[in-house]
Amino acid sequence: MNLTHLYTKLYPWWEQNHRVLPWRETRDAYRIWLSEIILQQTRVMQGMDYYLRFIERWPTVEALAAADEQEVMRAWQGLGYYSRARNLYKSAQMIVERGWAPFPTRFEDIRSLPGIGDYTAGAIAAFAYDMPYPAMDGNVYRVVARLFDIEEAFDTSAGKRLFHECIETILDRAHPGLFDAALMELGALHCTPTLTDTETGELRCLTCPLSDLCQAYAHGTAQLLPVRKPRPVLRDRYLNYTIYLTEREGTVYTLIRQRTERDIWHHLWEFPLRESENGLLPAEKGTQSIDLKHILSHQRLYARFQKKAVRELPNLPDTRVVALRDLDEYGLSRLTLIALEKLL
Ligand code: SF4
Repeated sequence: MNLTHLYTKLYPWWEQNHRVLPWRETRDAYRIWLSEIILQQTRVMQGMDYYLRFIERWPTVEALAAADEQEVMRAWQGLGYYSRARNLYKSAQMIVERGWAPFPTRFEDIRSLPGIGDYTAGAIAAFAYDMPYPAMDGNVYRVVARLFDIEEAFDTSAGKRLFHECIETILDRAHPGLFDAALMELGALHCTPTLTDTETGELRCLTCPLSDLCQAYAHGTAQLLPVRKPRPVLRDRYLNYTIYLTEREGTVYTLIRQRTERDIWHHLWEFPLRESENGLLPAEKGTQSIDLKHILSHQRLYARFQKKAVRELPNLPDTRVVALRDLDEYGLSRLTLIALEKLL
């Protein structure tokens, strides 16, 4: 690929079209890191408020490391995926303890922090320090797949390697930060999954700055790319839960058990369970029950939760009697939480 040509097309496009975002106006690695973690599973507009609040409250990594963990978790509330907040806090402490403040400058050190994968480490290294690392997010994978017309799935280890080799051949070593940002933005705004302009219905390739370099466009395959590995076949399972309830001196008690078998939800707690083979078991007459469907990466779960008031809790192996109000002290599976919310 003619690199001079690529850069002289891509950069003017970036200048004219990119969104102005606060974390793009800074070279402060701490702020860039914060924005990248927030944006991992959050849309730009929603993430913005949180980003601004975080940097106002904890403007440096030292400030974040000295914060109270619960306060950090509270500030994160509403963003979901709380492991991100926990890792953020843990990382801030590691950075200070290891003498890396205001932020580590070596790629390996950045990559070693909890919650940071190849993409985030590459983005921080390139945006903050202009180090020649690609920042391969979903948008970039899509653009690269199309520029090089790659039919290999990008989400396998062989595919990842191939995509990395390709991007290494076009990475602008003189301006890696600009290059990464421009390619990401092209993927986010122009080389989109559907490729048709929502207003005009026109194929975006017709107005793309890289169209004369793009092999998928030349071969008419752009809309078929990128390719993902085939999804695994889902296994169906039928879970019959009984929520036993009994009242003693104004307190309601129930039975729960911990999942110790090598299976889904390892170590989490749930109500007594009977798993059945080809369908859910009928609910007992006179009991209140709800049915839920829950999809995990490899399994489709059909669950029936049946509420059963009893005089005495039955003596079931491996169960524990707990007061209903203390249930939140136990790590419950997400399915159990949904059932609790709906049924109790
Ligand atoms: S020509 Fe089309 S497929 Fe190729 S980079 Fe541009 S928008 Fe994407």
